[in-house]
Formats: sequence, C-alpha cells, structure tokens
Amino acid sequence: QWEQVKTDMRSAIGAGNFKSWIEPLSLVTTDEGVAHLAAPNPFVGDYVSKTYGDQIIYHLNRHGLSVQRLAFKVESAANTPEKPAAPKAVTPAADARPDQRFTFDNFVVGKPNELAHAAAKRVAEGGPVTFNPLFLYGGVGLGKTHLMHAIAHELGQRRPDLNVLYISADQFIYRFISALRDRKMMDFKQHFRSVDILMVDDIQFLEGKESTQEEFFHTFNALVDQNKQLIISADRAPGEIRDLSERIKSRLQCGLVVDLHPTDYELRLGVLHAKQETYLNVYPGVDIAPGVLEFLAHRISSNVRVLEGALNRLYALASLVGRTVTVEMAQDCLSDILRASDRKLTIEEIQRKVSEHYDIRLSDMLGPKRTRTLARPRQVAMWLCKQMTTRSLPEIGRKFGKRDHTTIMHGVRKIDELRQSDSQIADDLELLRRALED
Ligand code: ADP
Ligand code: MG
Repeated sequence: QWEQVKTDMRSAIGAGNFKSWIEPLSLVTTDEGVAHLAAPNPFVGDYVSKTYGDQIIYHLNRHGLSVQRLAFKVESAANTPEKPAAPKAVTPAADARPDQRFTFDNFVVGKPNELAHAAAKRVAEGGPVTFNPLFLYGGVGLGKTHLMHAIAHELGQRRPDLNVLYISADQFIYRFISALRDRKMMDFKQHFRSVDILMVDDIQFLEGKESTQEEFFHTFNALVDQNKQLIISADRAPGEIRDLSERIKSRLQCGLVVDLHPTDYELRLGVLHAKQETYLNVYPGVDIAPGVLEFLAHRISSNVRVLEGALNRLYALASLVGRTVTVEMAQDCLSDILRASDRKLTIEEIQRKVSEHYDIRLSDMLGPKRTRTLARPRQVAMWLCKQMTTRSLPEIGRKFGKRDHTTIMHGVRKIDELRQSDSQIADDLELLRRALED
C-alpha cells in the first residue's frame, strides 16, 4: 500500500518534490489510526508533516489504511535497526546541518520580531563579538529555531572558516549522558570547546538537569572566555526558567537578551503571503480566493506554525476538490484551529483580573491618577497585555485610554526592570499569568 501511496504522491506533487521529501520515507507500521513513518532526519519529517501530511493521510485511506494522523521518527540512512545506535553517540558528523528552508530570506520581519532579527543578523555577519551570549526567547512557533538556522546558514556562506555548531538542548543532554556512559567525556568537552560559534536551542529543557547544567556552564564559560559567540534560545526569559542555577542565569543575562513577541496582524499577513508563494510551486494551479489570507491573519492569533498548518491544509483541500478555496470553505475546513484560537484572552479580561488582584477599582486603574497604588497595577496590566495577547502597543494603548503607545512602552519596560529586582512584582506577575492562562 505504501508503494501505491508513493506513486500517487509522485503524480500529485511532481518528481522533484517527491524525490526530496517522500522518497526517503518508509512506512514502519500503522496502529490505532496513526501511521508511523521513518524519516532520515527531523527536518524531513517536520516538513513533510506540515506540507504533505493531509495529502498522505488522504492517500493512505484511499488505499485501505485507516489513518487519521502521522507520526514521524528519525531513522538514519540505510535502514538502521530500531534501537538507537548506542556506541557512536558522540560523533561530530551527527550535528544537524542548517535547514535550507530556514534562511533570512524567508524570514518575514515585523514589529514583534524586528529586534531579534536585527540581533541575529548582526551575529550572522561573523564580525567581532559584541554581545555574548545572544539570548533569544519567546513562545512556541515564533521563529527562534528559524533564526538560529538562518544564522548558521549565513555564516556558512560568509565565514566558511568558522566552525559553527547548532544543537538543541535535548541533543546536548543526550550527548552528555552518552559521553558519561561511554566514558568519552574528554571527546565531549573537546568537541564543544573547539567550536567558534555555538548555538543551543530550547535550553528550558535543562530545567532540573543539574549535572548537564554544570557541564553546560563550563562549556559556556570556556567559550565566552575565548571570545567565541554563543547563541541561546528558550521559550521564556532567563530569569523565568525554573531550576536553572543562578550562575547560569546571571551569565545568560550578561549578553543581549531579546524577546520575540507574539505575532501581530501585519506580521501574520506577511508570513501568509510569503508562504503562499512557496505553495504555488507545490500545488500548481490551485487557488485561494482574495480575502482568505486576511481572514486567517485576523482569526488565527497563535503562532506561525499554526498559521502555516492552516494555509497548508487549505491548499491540500483546494487541490483535492479542484476549486478555489473561499472564506466559507476555509471556515469549515479549519473549524478546529479557529475554535482553539478563539479562546484568546482579551485586554479587558486582563485589566479586570489585575484590578481584582490588587483590590482596586477598575475605573481607577484605567483612570488618569498617578498615585503609586494605581500606577503600578496599571503597568502590570500593560505588561501582561503585551505578553499574553497579540495586540500591538497602539491597540493596547487605546484600551488604556492613551492616545499614543509610548506610555504603554514605558510601563512594559518599567515592569521588565522591576521583575528582575523586585521579587514581589515577579510573584504577582507569575500568579496573574497562571490565573489568566486557564
Ligand atoms: P520556535 O523555534 O520559536 O518555536 P520556529 O522557528 O520553529 O519557532 O518557527 C515555526 C515555524 O514558523 C517555522 O516553519 C518557521 O519557518 C515559521 N516562522 C516563524 N516565524 C517566521 C517569520 N517571521 N517568517 C517566516 N516564517 C516564520
Ligand atoms: Mg524551536
């Protein structure tokens, strides 16, 4: 059946795409509606599931396999057996090469990510180290990994002499543990200390992993001492990563810390337009009606990955039914995604919660008085709006009765500062955030 699915996919997406993406896959088993596929590396799996997932599911079903979902696992070349190949855990060759799809060229820049983008660009120039480490943080799917790959990619072109290493914190942990087990700590240390630029993605995974943290800290220091650039990402600010040792936290804060903010409407629309271009090649002759992209950008407020998934599903739908996708069709086909996005927090809800928390009247909090008992909660509310909603600063400003957004910006900055030094504020923010999240 898998062979038949492959044949169908080849005619659906063309020989070129087929060769790069579908050919390398094999179907391992199907089990309770899940088709388990083996991919040569995580990027192929990721890309295929995003781009061709729905089509593959469709064809699997057509050929008599009842499948609702795909699961990818990585199997290195030439059908290695299922068990992870234990002895050769620490091989430089296994380092992930930068993903060709994640470049600066196809990174859409907007207000929410312009700082992160600029900082990443600066590092990618490969000039003298000006800030170390570069710490990128932000919610899921906002482009951290994309930017890191883009840096690696560009450095590969500009400075082929430099030894650039990208690794996820997961992988770092795994390699550390394997090195311990195989008594290859010397190799491990040597490997990580000989790079010129080290990128570690998603370091929140080091939470609670004390010995790995210790090793990470040493690697980190060794590289910084040699003036080698480090780029670190996490899903939250250094100070908010639990169980991370204070030494690491303060080291992380020494460099440049930039956050990727939740997307705004303009950025979402920009991303959709950019992705549409790439889909034109994948699904030739398939069309999406005017207004559909605007509809998506308006209604889907979560991360870029979800946005891409939605667009991809629409293209798959269009190619299946053979006609232009309208807003109504989109509404139908994406009802699950839209529903999930609708549960979003409003500025009003945040304002109300904050006034309750501080036991002040909402009208006072939103009013003009500047006494400290009102001003602080007001700023806390501004900060939370900025962090937890996708509204732009001017939009937030309006809801706080401000004619321009500089007051909001000031408030957000103030809280950003305070939260480092004032543990009461930090606790309040954490509490409020939890309360608002459910
Ligand atoms: P993170 O690592 O922050 O969770 P990723 O970098 O994996 O997020 O991004 C998720 C997906 O969204 C990727 O496919 C990425 O290419 C895409 N993406 C995120 N931000 C942008 C952007 N500004 N422009 C274009 N694509 C983006
Ligand atoms: Mg990531």
